[in-house]
Amino acid sequence: MATLPQTNKLTPSQLSTISPKIRDWCSCHGLLMKSKRNDPHDYSFHHLPVTLLPTPIPKILFDQAMQVQMDFNTVFDIITRKTSFLSENLKRSLQDDEYASKLMYVYNQVLKEGIAQPINFMLTRSDYMLDQSNSNNQLSLKQVEFNTVSVGFIGSSSVVPSLHRYVIRELGLTDDYNLERIATNNCLEPFAKGVHLAWKMYENDKAIILFVVLPDENNICDQRLFEYAIMKLDPSINVVRCTMADIEENATLGDDKTLYYKKQEVALVYYRSAYAPYCYPSQKEWDALLLAERSRSIKVPNIASHLAGVKKIQQVLSTPGVLESLLPDKSSVERIRATFTGLYSLEGDQGKESIAMAIKNPENFVLKPPREGGGNNLFGEEIRTFLSSSSNDDEKSAYILMDRIFPPAVDNCIITTNNSIQGTEKVISELGIYGVLISRGPNEVISNCACGYLLRTKSISQNEGGVGIGAAGLDSVYLV
Ligand code: ADP
Ligand code: MG
Ligand code: MG
Repeated sequence: MATLPQTNKLTPSQLSTISPKIRDWCSCHGLLMKSKRNDPHDYSFHHLPVTLLPTPIPKILFDQAMQVQMDFNTVFDIITRKTSFLSENLKRSLQDDEYASKLMYVYNQVLKEGIAQPINFMLTRSDYMLDQSNSNNQLSLKQVEFNTVSVGFIGSSSVVPSLHRYVIRELGLTDDYNLERIATNNCLEPFAKGVHLAWKMYENDKAIILFVVLPDENNICDQRLFEYAIMKLDPSINVVRCTMADIEENATLGDDKTLYYKKQEVALVYYRSAYAPYCYPSQKEWDALLLAERSRSIKVPNIASHLAGVKKIQQVLSTPGVLESLLPDKSSVERIRATFTGLYSLEGDQGKESIAMAIKNPENFVLKPPREGGGNNLFGEEIRTFLSSSSNDDEKSAYILMDRIFPPAVDNCIITTNNSIQGTEKVISELGIYGVLISRGPNEVISNCACGYLLRTKSISQNEGGVGIGAAGLDSVYLV
């Protein structure tokens, strides 16, 4: 990797002067998150965690990630429409997982009634780490996961390159960094264009868009930046924010399966909720999901593409022959397969072998339940304890085992809300590429593109690093 100025060469005085500047810059550009307070009238915000400087990423790997996004979008669109594929691969493995079974129930109900809306609109993000474990010491791009539901940070992420250009100038590092190598991040506009296009395809210019959010949402600015980008494209679009419980209380279905929210026709339901058990505190939320799914509104995602993003599917896709059976284009199959690291099923006899392998060397693996939203995976000794216990036997088939990726560590600072910069640390990064896909049937793809990125950087000592909890910072890509 290129030699960039080490953050540990920056003087304490440089570091202490830059942190209030970063705080102000973030505040003025919407890199903010609502503070969690007990007082509901206290509407205060703090800045999102960010890295001090951008992270070097080889251009060839960045380009590879952008290119393969369209292939991933294609294969997930195909899976979404292949009911037999989803049912066969998820039914048995998810049957002992209460949450995943409930998602399957919604899916089966919709299939029974018939799918009312043929348009599949996916806002996706494929996440990668750079792996340095191969013998020739070269970095390779390895997929962590593919997200199809509640893909976040499109708004916030698009702003980070400008922050880093500003910081580099303020620190007097313009001789060390070529500012043009900081990859611009135009993720917001293509996402907004996708929403606009789908909304037009619904063909009712009075119909509204629902942004379905959590009741105590704190990542508001990220979502609002997206909303404002949509309104900038077409000020006549009416975006309404609501919770899943609000839908249950205020939405109805017409005879032709039109969804109405407070009597207004709904063209599109965009979920920034619905992705984890805590998004369903009561039956109301499940009823809301089912109601919206049964309707002819366009859902982002619909229940099929939501389920296609379950981690079990990622493991199934990596099994020899599966990608080939889904995708006619051989080079597309190769591009996708090149990003896979070892993924193992815990079902049947093969599962027994995987379990033995993980118990022997748990530090080389990550164990993943069918969950989204961070903080659910098991690492190291936790894997051994979980897999050694027979009391978890029923749950195990819903989990997948994955080779642990060990990305190269670099020096950087993660600047969290309340702390001035404490000093530099060894950090590792995860690169996400955003994608948009709109299709109207198996043979009619209307839009398929890769559109910008999310780079999250965390201390090497963290197994998982959530931006929301301050364990990872938003970052930008420095192409080397
Ligand atoms: P989620 O849907 O909850 O985000 P992920 O599969 O992305 O689930 O896992 C959460 C985090 O765990 C990732 O952001 C990454 O930090 C870490 N992680 C996941 N898989 C791996 C892996 N194979 N190697 C190293 N770290 C991983
Ligand atoms: Mg995920
Ligand atoms: Mg993830």
